[in-house]
Amino acid sequence: MARRPIIAGNWKMHNNKAAAKELIEGIVAGVKDLDASKMPEVVVAPTYTALWQVQDVIKNEPKIALAAQNVNPNPKGAYTGEISLEMLADFNTKFVIIGHSERRQMFNESDEFINEKAIAILKAGMIPIICCGETLEQREAGVTDAHLEGQITKALKGISAEDVEKSVIAYEPIWAIGTGKSCDAVEANRTIGEIRKVVAKLYSQDVADKIRILYGGSVKPSTIVEQMAQEEIDGGLIGGASLEAGSFIELIKGAM
Ligand code: PGA
Repeated sequence: MARRPIIAGNWKMHNNKAAAKELIEGIVAGVKDLDASKMPEVVVAPTYTALWQVQDVIKNEPKIALAAQNVNPNPKGAYTGEISLEMLADFNTKFVIIGHSERRQMFNESDEFINEKAIAILKAGMIPIICCGETLEQREAGVTDAHLEGQITKALKGISAEDVEKSVIAYEPIWAIGTGKSCDAVEANRTIGEIRKVVAKLYSQDVADKIRILYGGSVKPSTIVEQMAQEEIDGGLIGGASLEAGSFIELIKGAM
């Protein structure tokens, strides 16, 4: 199955304008000599306030695409502190991360709200990166697969097969995020295989074979090669190790 891998950097709440400029310039310099035909799709997700700055640096670099870390699904209105898809479109944003466990846990985002966002993102011509993942308690209780099936089924509700096959899912076990303890690659592969089965059940095997499913959670240059060698893992959503140009370039090379 020829699914093009993705290496996506989630910068979270890091980097003001100057730091974002320095980081993206380092990444641009690092991808310059890489063979585009062998490269994964490279995505960077800065904070909203650095979108303009990052876009300004990558506008002539087709090897790098821009993502936002969140969006509000409403077109406009009285939503203090929120950002719309029309605003993201100003910066040529291609992807939007939704349903990250930090947003689910700290900002009480529901499956229904995440579904609303996915629908609005696709309608705006962008691609959602839909995050899912279990807590340590859920894993230990043996309910991981059922939990992920619930999250994915609710996130994709009402979305057409055509839209789902171009979407991206990121499997991020919560206990592996920012802990330095990545999920074992074979187990991550198994779990992502289960997510793909859910997509096949909801849509078709063809759609399941096309959708890209990433792994996220303490991905590092030292883990990426083994992770990318797994059949079901189509790339990585990376936090900590994406904050330094050298290590992000190593991750890109690890996916080539
Ligand atoms: P991490 O974060 O790579 O720092 O574990 C991953 C994520 O939350 O997307």
